[in-house]
Amino acid sequence: MVGLAGSLFGPGALRSLATTPAEGPYIDMHTHLGQQWWKGREGLTAAELLRWMDRHNVAKAVVLPLVSPESWGYPVTTAYVLNQTKGHRDRLIPFCAIDPRTINLDGVNGIVEMLRRYIDAGAKGFGEHKTGIAIDDSRNMRLYEACANVDLPVLFHLDNHRNFDSPGLPGLEKVLKSFSNLPFIGHAQGWWANIADDVTQEAMQRYPTGRVRQRGAIDRLMDNYSNIYGDLSAGSGANAIARDLGFGIHFLLRRSDRILFGTDYLSPGQDVRQYTLLSELMKLPPKVKQKIYRGNAQRLINFQ
Ligand SMILES: [Zn+2]
Repeated sequence: MVGLAGSLFGPGALRSLATTPAEGPYIDMHTHLGQQWWKGREGLTAAELLRWMDRHNVAKAVVLPLVSPESWGYPVTTAYVLNQTKGHRDRLIPFCAIDPRTINLDGVNGIVEMLRRYIDAGAKGFGEHKTGIAIDDSRNMRLYEACANVDLPVLFHLDNHRNFDSPGLPGLEKVLKSFSNLPFIGHAQGWWANIADDVTQEAMQRYPTGRVRQRGAIDRLMDNYSNIYGDLSAGSGANAIARDLGFGIHFLLRRSDRILFGTDYLSPGQDVRQYTLLSELMKLPPKVKQKIYRGNAQRLINFQ
């Protein structure tokens, strides 16, 4: 990364974490347990996640399974997430996931039946939905219909390989129009690259840098559809705001009802860019911070 983003996320990143005032408690919309880390480090246990949350003033964290072959090398099943979060449900909030290509799903009704079992076991949302088909593939549409039937918000990963779409997100628009009462939470490079109007297909797999000259598809979709949200997690979320901090802050101000704090924390010791970003966002009005850091999540997810 270059320029402003470089100074935000450079070697001082961890240092500034210690100086970030306690603005929380935060609700983290995006964490993972038990994943094999790609640099030889261990996956995260529930106890380690809870200790990390204590240190960073995170009251609750959504824990997301990863079941599709394109999502991760080492699958994290819904059963695993439900099991590992048991006993900590006041703070660790499990979601569930089903790959829409799974055999014998038995149509929308069959998927609804599976989802109901997961809900009975404690699941509060659907995701991380990260599957190697188009965002508006007919199999995905069937899955969204089932999620709408049981009121489970869908957190999706969108890039050029998972839930893929074209610049301007026409496929996602079709989804939002078809299921206008179902909340969708956008995540990853392909989603966040569309914060700018001049996005290319190639940029939808990257972390684009530089000024945002014109509002992109994210703003357009948020203007037209009340059921689309964005999750600030991972390098993609932090970069989308930090690449042009002036634009990013105004984006957060005008979309303060649609943005959810998240980290994508998944390995002990992971550098979390969001905390550096938070120190840059100190000047946001307290009301806006309250909504982004926890209020919107409380509105969207039934934590009871
Ligand atoms: Zn993730």
